[in-house]
Amino acid sequence: QVELELCQALQQIQQLRELKANFISMVCHQFRTPLNAVSFSNSLLKRHIDEWTKEKTRPLLDHIQTAVEKLSRMLNDILFFANAEAAKFNFETEPLDLIQFCNELVIQIQMSSSHDINFVREGSCGSARIDRQLLEPILKNLLDNAVKYSPSDSPVDLQLSCKSGKVIFQVTDRGIGIAVADRQQIFEPFYRGKNIKNIPGTGLGLSLVKTLVDLYGGQIAVESEIDIGTTFTVMLPV
Ligand code: ADP
Repeated sequence: QVELELCQALQQIQQLRELKANFISMVCHQFRTPLNAVSFSNSLLKRHIDEWTKEKTRPLLDHIQTAVEKLSRMLNDILFFANAEAAKFNFETEPLDLIQFCNELVIQIQMSSSHDINFVREGSCGSARIDRQLLEPILKNLLDNAVKYSPSDSPVDLQLSCKSGKVIFQVTDRGIGIAVADRQQIFEPFYRGKNIKNIPGTGLGLSLVKTLVDLYGGQIAVESEIDIGTTFTVMLPV
């Protein structure tokens, strides 16, 4: 038993190493575009600052601001990713009160959103040995997306159910939906759907969610219809 656990831990470490190597090269690539935009706009501004009117300089300044905001969002997401990964190897053994946990999370999301977030539970769910630091980024990302990709007057549901040896969370929104072609790729780092228009994001959230669910030995599924809504289902073994 000890040998098996050691073997599994080593496999996870190897998996993480590969993931990190790929991730770093992708991050560098993704940072280059906004950095180039800042550098190019800045050098144009420096060259023409004395002769250009306000109308001419403003779009370049806006361009710089958009690129800097994008860089800052990416940094935040990467830090979140790094912290969540580190937390994975620090299992809390205390049982987690799932209902209290979900209630707290809903209040937290509700504070920064005008959506109604409904918490629905099915069957009897008490406490389970799930690491809070692992669960929080999973559900927070799914709820943040549900809020971000749906109209502010539409409700979002968080459903919790427990079946033999499994805890199931479902996050449902009535938003823009995810096209079939995008559904294959949304869990890839930096991938963003074709229908997101100008909704800001980095494409990192779902890849973090998938990584954590996989490391935990769980499953994630998505059902969606364009302009009707999306449901993400996460199943975790307990
Ligand atoms: P981000 O939201 O920063 O783009 P994510 O990795 O969280 O990054 O999501 C990847 C893509 O999946 C999004 O760009 C979007 O196209 C799609 N997506 C995720 N959640 C939803 C949702 N609830 N409704 C519609 N599209 C979604």
